[in-house]
Amino acid sequence: MLSLWSDQWAEAAAAHYAAHGENEDVGQRIYSARLLGREPALVMHGGGNTSVKTTARDLYGEPVEVLRVKGSGWDLATIEPAGHPAVRRAPLLQLRRLQALSDEDMVNALRQNLLDSAAPNPSVEALLHAFLPHRFVDHTHAVAVCALVDQPGAEALAREVWGERVACVPYIMPGFALAKAAIEAWEANPDVEGLILLKHGVLTFGETARESYERMISLVDASERFIAARAPALGPIALPAPSAPASPQASQCLPVLRGELARLAASFGPPERWIFDLRSGPEVRQLADRADLPELARRGVSTPDHVIRTKAGPVVLPPADAADWRTGAAAALERFAQDYRAYFERHAARTGGKQRLDPLPRLAAIPGLGLAGIGRSAADAAVAADVGEAWAATLLRAEAVGRFEPVGEADLFDMEYWSLEQAKLGKTAEKRLARHVVAVTGAAGAIGSATARAFAAEGAEVALLDLDGAAATRAGQSVGGAALALACDVTDPASVRAAFEAIAARFGGLDVVVSNAGAAVTGAMADLPEAELRRSFELNFFGHQHVAQAALRVLRAQRRGGALLFNVSKQAVNPGPDFGAYGTAKAALLALMRQYALELGAEGVRVNAVNADRIRSGLLDAPAIAARAAARGVSEAQYMAGNLLGREVTAADVAQAFVSAALAQATTGGVFTVDGGNVAAMMR
Ligand SMILES: [Zn+2]
Repeated sequence: MLSLWSDQWAEAAAAHYAAHGENEDVGQRIYSARLLGREPALVMHGGGNTSVKTTARDLYGEPVEVLRVKGSGWDLATIEPAGHPAVRRAPLLQLRRLQALSDEDMVNALRQNLLDSAAPNPSVEALLHAFLPHRFVDHTHAVAVCALVDQPGAEALAREVWGERVACVPYIMPGFALAKAAIEAWEANPDVEGLILLKHGVLTFGETARESYERMISLVDASERFIAARAPALGPIALPAPSAPASPQASQCLPVLRGELARLAASFGPPERWIFDLRSGPEVRQLADRADLPELARRGVSTPDHVIRTKAGPVVLPPADAADWRTGAAAALERFAQDYRAYFERHAARTGGKQRLDPLPRLAAIPGLGLAGIGRSAADAAVAADVGEAWAATLLRAEAVGRFEPVGEADLFDMEYWSLEQAKLGKTAEKRLARHVVAVTGAAGAIGSATARAFAAEGAEVALLDLDGAAATRAGQSVGGAALALACDVTDPASVRAAFEAIAARFGGLDVVVSNAGAAVTGAMADLPEAELRRSFELNFFGHQHVAQAALRVLRAQRRGGALLFNVSKQAVNPGPDFGAYGTAKAALLALMRQYALELGAEGVRVNAVNADRIRSGLLDAPAIAARAAARGVSEAQYMAGNLLGREVTAADVAQAFVSAALAQATTGGVFTVDGGNVAAMMR
């Protein structure tokens, strides 16, 4: 591992934060905290913490000695001064006199001494930072260090790797007791550059931000070199890999897994839906394909706070090409949940009063495929997958050097059920369509992109499909988050099937489809070339049929129902002159919707349509509006608002109708009319 330190950038950071009223120490602190945070082999997802001892001014302008230490909820990669709340240092040092201090009292003491009472809670490792005398302190869970400290003979190994440069601290859960053990270890070895926290991570310190940072990099580099000498085949640590590219096996296995996980989840109460993020980088594959994977998966996480992201380890599923994969996967999930409940029972009596968390896995290992993160959203699944990759990288290196033996089950339980750790996960109320995967076709158009945004605003993961892949990508950027953009020609069944396989591989499955792609073909029927009529049917009827068939393959693999929504048109029930080629295809689509509603009801797949009219879109562009308004002798505004409600109907209104249809649990075979009111187009 190389140092990325730059005096020039450190000074620039200090100058930047000085302009915001922060002193030089804080500027240097933010610069080096971010340097550590941007390297996933050092720090991941809120892991690691940093501090600086400096002065601040109180209300009277008097200088106060403070500890600026990472606050909870901040990530080192993007941390700002507000992410290092100031705590009065003197009262924290007094705490060292105590024999013991409960977590609640520790948090209370930290909060009491915050200069800003609205600041986030200081890190649970704040006292460890406070007790050490050094101005700058850095703490990480570096992969290479964990590979060496998660060993039976870690202390001897540490001596071999780092010599007299470090002192070791035995495993103790973060908090007051660890802080005391760490300061005692340093006082007994005041010349060391850092402390090795066995089965946990590494701590370095220094008088300058640079000294502490360079020591961290140097200690981690020594561990990487030590491992490389013993396991040259492994190569440098490269984390994390992007989500796995779509593969036939991924798109077959994941929806089955998602359905079986939902079935298991249902027996414990909601939520049932989960989102996946599959990784298939070389190390993940190497681990997933090992014959001893089932045993390795039970050893534990590489550093204790990962337990809240991935539980103690992944559920191990059958090889991707195994016969009757569903039965094998369901049995593995059931076993995982049973084992989890047994683990809870083993330790709950000792700790008392704990409420069991759900017994579902957050990581799935599939030989032949890789590791899938499981989360309440794509972002949450990505965190689990990232942590899973770090686990794989640590485990492979630990096994290459000796034996991967991380913190034991009892300590892991204490960590998992520690209120201060669970607080990191947050308990925000979920949006109505959170955990849903929604595919929208024609997603680059006015209605399609508005629909994708509307579903995303309700918490859904969205896949945007459009004939124009670049336009789908642009529309996806307006949706934000983990939106997936795909080029898809709905008139080509192979293209549609590939798109739905890609959705299943990316998110693990599918819940709602908005089959929206369409375009008007105009001309009087008497003179219309047959090829034009067929072209309209290819797009406005068969296109929807292709989408429905491809979507059903995924929905049926899940066996959990779903929603198929079609953009029909008022033309289906209220034809307009010269729109025959479009209207007859849409009338057939309306019949198709009803047919699917009839045939899929027993499977819990709801099928509905939205009939919209007079929406500004590719079908009704500015010249067309001007021409129609002129033909009727009204203004454009009057034309657009020519309905019972007297208001223009927008693409956003249509999008809301699709959202409503997706949420209407007892409605199938229905038509949601979105035209501001038009008696001639009313359903009958
Ligand atoms: Zn830690």
